[in-house]
Amino acid sequence: MAKKWVYLFNEGKAEMRNLLGGKGANLAEMTNIGLPVPPGFTITTEACNTYNAQGNEFPDGMWDQVLEALREVERETGKKFGDKKNPLLLSVRSGARASMPGMMDTVLNLGLNPETLKGLAKLTENQRLANDAYRRLIQMFGRIVMGVKAGGGEEDPFEKILGEYKAKIEGGQDTDLTADMLAEIALRFKEVLKEKAGREFPDDPYEQLRMAVAAVFGSWMGKRAVDYRNFNRLPHNWGTAVNVQTMVFGNMGSDSGTGVAFTRNPATGEKALYGEYLVNAQGEDVVSGIRTPSPIGHLKGQWPKIYEEFSRICDVLEKHYRDVQDMEFTIEKGRLWMLQTRTGKRTGAAAVKIAVDMVGEGLIDEEEAVMRIDPLLHVNQLLLPRFDPQEKMNAAERFLAKGLNASPGAASGVVALTADTAEKWGKEGRDVILVRPETAPDDVHGMLESRGILTQRGGATSHAAVVARGLGLPCVAGCEAIRVDLDRRLFSVDGKAVKEGDVISIDGTTGEVFAGPIATIAPEFEKEEDLVTLLAWADKARKLGVRTNADYPKDAAIARKFGAEGIGLTRTEHMFFEEDRLPVVQQMILAKSGQERQAALDKLLPVQRGDFEGIFEVMDGLPVIIRLIDPPLHEFLPSYEELLEEVAILRCKGDNPKELAEKEALLGEVSAMREANPMLGLRGCRLGITMPGITEMQVRAIFQAACRVAKRGIDVHPEVMIPLVGHVNELKLQRETLEKVAEEVMEEEGTQVEYTFGTMIELPRAALTAGEIAQYAQFFSFGTNDLTQTTFGYSRDDAEGKFLLKYVEDKVLTLDLGDEQEIAANPFQSLDRKGVGRLIRIAVEEGRAANPDLEMGICGEHGGDPSSIEFCHQVGLDYVSCSPYRVPVARVAAAQAAIKDEREVGFKDV
Ligand code: PEP
Ligand code: MG
Repeated sequence: MAKKWVYLFNEGKAEMRNLLGGKGANLAEMTNIGLPVPPGFTITTEACNTYNAQGNEFPDGMWDQVLEALREVERETGKKFGDKKNPLLLSVRSGARASMPGMMDTVLNLGLNPETLKGLAKLTENQRLANDAYRRLIQMFGRIVMGVKAGGGEEDPFEKILGEYKAKIEGGQDTDLTADMLAEIALRFKEVLKEKAGREFPDDPYEQLRMAVAAVFGSWMGKRAVDYRNFNRLPHNWGTAVNVQTMVFGNMGSDSGTGVAFTRNPATGEKALYGEYLVNAQGEDVVSGIRTPSPIGHLKGQWPKIYEEFSRICDVLEKHYRDVQDMEFTIEKGRLWMLQTRTGKRTGAAAVKIAVDMVGEGLIDEEEAVMRIDPLLHVNQLLLPRFDPQEKMNAAERFLAKGLNASPGAASGVVALTADTAEKWGKEGRDVILVRPETAPDDVHGMLESRGILTQRGGATSHAAVVARGLGLPCVAGCEAIRVDLDRRLFSVDGKAVKEGDVISIDGTTGEVFAGPIATIAPEFEKEEDLVTLLAWADKARKLGVRTNADYPKDAAIARKFGAEGIGLTRTEHMFFEEDRLPVVQQMILAKSGQERQAALDKLLPVQRGDFEGIFEVMDGLPVIIRLIDPPLHEFLPSYEELLEEVAILRCKGDNPKELAEKEALLGEVSAMREANPMLGLRGCRLGITMPGITEMQVRAIFQAACRVAKRGIDVHPEVMIPLVGHVNELKLQRETLEKVAEEVMEEEGTQVEYTFGTMIELPRAALTAGEIAQYAQFFSFGTNDLTQTTFGYSRDDAEGKFLLKYVEDKVLTLDLGDEQEIAANPFQSLDRKGVGRLIRIAVEEGRAANPDLEMGICGEHGGDPSSIEFCHQVGLDYVSCSPYRVPVARVAAAQAAIKDEREVGFKDV
């Protein structure tokens, strides 16, 4: 028997999401729980993958199954596809496993041609509706299936024609266009297609269906969809399903309409229906933001019975799925139809509130609540910056307009009026606010590079709003007071012009827009009660500890407030770069004699001691890992190139021989210290071994600070870390000399403090010989920045700019980030489990075998990345260490890893 490629809605269910896509699986589920869903069927994601794999050929037997399912739909509806009297019209929509809002394609009103159109007009007694449906079909089909759209600086040819007609009529809305005008427009659209696509619009309904299904399959590999998946780290091998469904019409007159709604407010999480609808309109009118819709609450006054039924359905769906639903519905001549339901995307604040509320309502348990949160997106968003209230008040006279508060957060940046400009400027490192009449999926590349989005038209569920919320960007939508003028490259408000390139500020939480910049501040964590509750639940579930990377008392304090349980890395050299210290550090490096060097070190000692005292005080009672100096020393000196230029200029001028001599001498020193590969050169423990004075001074400072704060009653736990060890003897040597200094200082200070010595594992050789190294270490900390650099052989400073991002984009480099899916990802952000991860596994196993008490953590950037944290849980590290703002993210990610582990009864080996 041929493979099953097609499922009628009553043959599927929610669990079949991988095969039927999210939309298809949910349409099936809604059908089966008895909700009013227009009949239809789903062509599987496997069919899409097969189509794309075999060079755009439908899989064997698929088309016959489509025709068979179509017959069934005809039986159910009593209509016939292509029939002149009683035509069945279809919608064709994509639907992947995960929702990819607006990323792929939809064609409505399939099955119309001049013949069936007459039937539809008669049946509905509405010539205008039939004509409108036909022009919409040609427009959508033309754009999506035949590829005729805006581009190369040219306006969308269909919108241009529509615009001409709208300009002729009073009101200027598309609902004001007459039946005759719509018929004319349809004819002109057909001409456009013939001219631009070089072929006629197909009037054969089956040909329309065949081409539309093929186009949806093809859209899976379209640039827009591929970009979106790369950004969201979704695999490319999922494929999209195609949903073919009976059309219902929201544009049949004043007793019809269409809308979108959430069962709870997706911006705040408040438990109240949230959404919008338009009377006498089709679905895309609401989403595209062409007309500004009414809030869903108005439905109650307008059509109370429908509102009641809709509320009941919302309730059924929320209880059934135990999560917020985002639904599309249509009312056709007073009858309610559900067209889609899916898990509602939400802001960080809403996600946390909804999860906590649902635990209170008994819908989910605490662990489920933790699993519902996207650690990076949601938690991070709650810690998003907002405008400094004082600065905002001061900016009152720069207030420009107010729109819809579509996605929270605040941002200032330069206005970019097209997605291309936003992308260009964003990539140049400028803060950009993308300002558009409305956004479309084609704008996503620019949205990705922007700090915020402002649109003139569109509601809370418009494309701009949905995508911005997904990206965690502030968005003000439907700001009708502004007029975007693309020709003059500006937007205007009340006659004032804001040019492209000018700075504006938008507050996505309130919907306000201001001219000029406004300073932002971080939110107050303690006041985010729901987040604090949720994090406490996460803490109950997680096995991994969460520490922070902090170099100053100030960031250590922030991290502690966020729940850090210690410091996993203090990079001591950062303190050397401070303005008042750098000259002394340079003196030390360039010293001509031991005496001179010692004099400089003596000056640095009290300064370092002060740094450490501050950190120990803040971390009272918690462990603090302090790493000894790591970077190559030339980083503290002026650059060779700059010096060379200065010397050349001084030589030319010839008027300052003294300065010339000094600079020449310095140039000589710097030149002697230069290395071809400084990252692989004299750095890390190699410095401590060849120039012991610096590390001895640092250890002295650490222990003086520890003893002194201990005497003041602070509970201090110093852990001294040696960087870049590659051979056990390096650690052995360092430990011997440095322990001697530690003991000496404690003797001098007359106090003993408990401390440990450990090393970073950041070179492949260290990982491979961890069993030997563990005999001289009380702890390991995986420095996955260097470990990634040295395992791949990619320079961590250059690779991203030179080739790595292209590698990721072109999928030259794919990584297994769990669930055995190879995903395009940057290994400096998400740990490469197969390579770097394998080294970590070896080091963990062999390290622990040699020294069962060995404590192990990670302090590379990966310590704040959820996928990497999951890996750290799997290999059994004791903790992760990350930057302060990632601490809450890591708490949730660590809990999710533990819960997932428990649910799956252990992970498979990587
Ligand atoms: C590392 O290499 O991962 C690390 C934490 O050290 P640094 O980034 O300072 O080299
Ligand atoms: Mg390192």
